[in-house]
Amino acid sequence: MRGEEPMDVQTVVIGAGVVGLAIARRLAQAGREVLLLDQADRIGAETSSRNSEVIHAGIYYPAGSLKARLCVAGKAALYAYCAERGVAAQATGKLIVAVSEDQIPAMRALMARGRANGVGDLVWLDAGAAQALEPALRCRAALLSPGSGIVDSHALMLALLADAEAAGAVLALHARVTAIAPAQGGYRLTAEDAGGTPAPLTCAEVVNSAGHGAPALAAATRGLPPAHVPRAWMAKGRYFSVSGATPFRHLIYPMPTRDGLGIHITLDLAGRMRLGPDLVRVDRLDYGLDPALAEPFRAAVAPFWPGVEGRDLGPAYSGIRPKIGGPLDAPADFAVEGPASHGMAGLVNLFGIESPGLTSCLALADHAADQLFGVAS
Ligand SMILES: Cc1cc2nc3c(=O)[nH]c(=O)nc-3n(C[C@H](O)[C@H](O)[C@H](O)COP(=O)(O)OP(=O)(O)OC[C@H]3O[C@@H](n4cnc5c(N)ncnc54)[C@H](O)[C@@H]3O)c2cc1C
Repeated sequence: MRGEEPMDVQTVVIGAGVVGLAIARRLAQAGREVLLLDQADRIGAETSSRNSEVIHAGIYYPAGSLKARLCVAGKAALYAYCAERGVAAQATGKLIVAVSEDQIPAMRALMARGRANGVGDLVWLDAGAAQALEPALRCRAALLSPGSGIVDSHALMLALLADAEAAGAVLALHARVTAIAPAQGGYRLTAEDAGGTPAPLTCAEVVNSAGHGAPALAAATRGLPPAHVPRAWMAKGRYFSVSGATPFRHLIYPMPTRDGLGIHITLDLAGRMRLGPDLVRVDRLDYGLDPALAEPFRAAVAPFWPGVEGRDLGPAYSGIRPKIGGPLDAPADFAVEGPASHGMAGLVNLFGIESPGLTSCLALADHAADQLFGVAS
């Protein structure tokens, strides 16, 4: 505890998505008295229940970036955690496919990038080897990532919450934080209940893990330098379900583009198949999905899965990526900003926790705790 004044609680974590839950667990297990607040009526109401549930290997991200480091560390931690806690997860493996000769140099570069990031198990497959693994696939070559997989994100969040609560953390729902201000020895928060009634709350430490709400909360943090208040951007990703049994055992991805990983074929633990997500910039949290988009989705995967022509596609769901860069900006890294970055003791802000945030949740929790505890990493 930093302050001399008695505080209502030692540490407040704002946001009960998969990352906030992992942070609450980490801090509670380190002995902090943790209160976890979320504005919604349940945990994981936003991005954490609207994603591909893929455990990424760490191939795509620039070497040395937080995304690369925390994805690689987070993947290993997540598989171990799921095994220990009985959370369903499966290393299905994944194929990234080149459908034309001109994609081969970029695929070689991707393999080199993955290896530089410490993803040592990547295997280059020629067309014959790829089709021997997945007979329904059409491609010129493929990159096999055996360590990629899928996880039951809902079971994961419940396990993280159970651990946090077992270590003494308390979850409060319908609690929307609207302002943060320095107070003697810590912070004074304003939190509104479901009816909009504000209540003050004091604490020594605050972790802002509010996903789409994190930049607005940073803007509502008195004393935080403007350079540490990013603009919030959003990019929607939509999914379509595919009728019939899946012919695939692996996740199947096209070559990534500058904007994202491309519309891919994902599998869930029940063996269902989905296409998605696409990427379209939006300016509000609207999860609506136009069924007419089925045909563009079909066209996107037909080059590597001709069999999609015989399937029915139905609207499934959508998610929205919390971005901190605009369409013309270079792709942004995760931003985890603690006292060493912005100068405010006891405050950690997390911004831009898009993919691979689910994969990285345990490593992000360690990293956020390191910022709070003043451990360099
Ligand atoms: C389309 C899509 C596909 C993805 N696929 C993958 C994937 O396959 N693999 C992977 O690793 N990652 C994936 N991701 C990324 C992953 O889903 C996110 O990184 C992760 O869920 C982020 O979790 P979070 O806890 O930071 O945010 P969230 O889950 O959004 O949680 C933030 C919480 O904060 C709460 N909140 C907001 N403002 C306030 C406030 N003022 N007061 C109180 N509470 C507040 C919200 O209610 C919410 O519950 C994908 C994301 C998208 C959008």
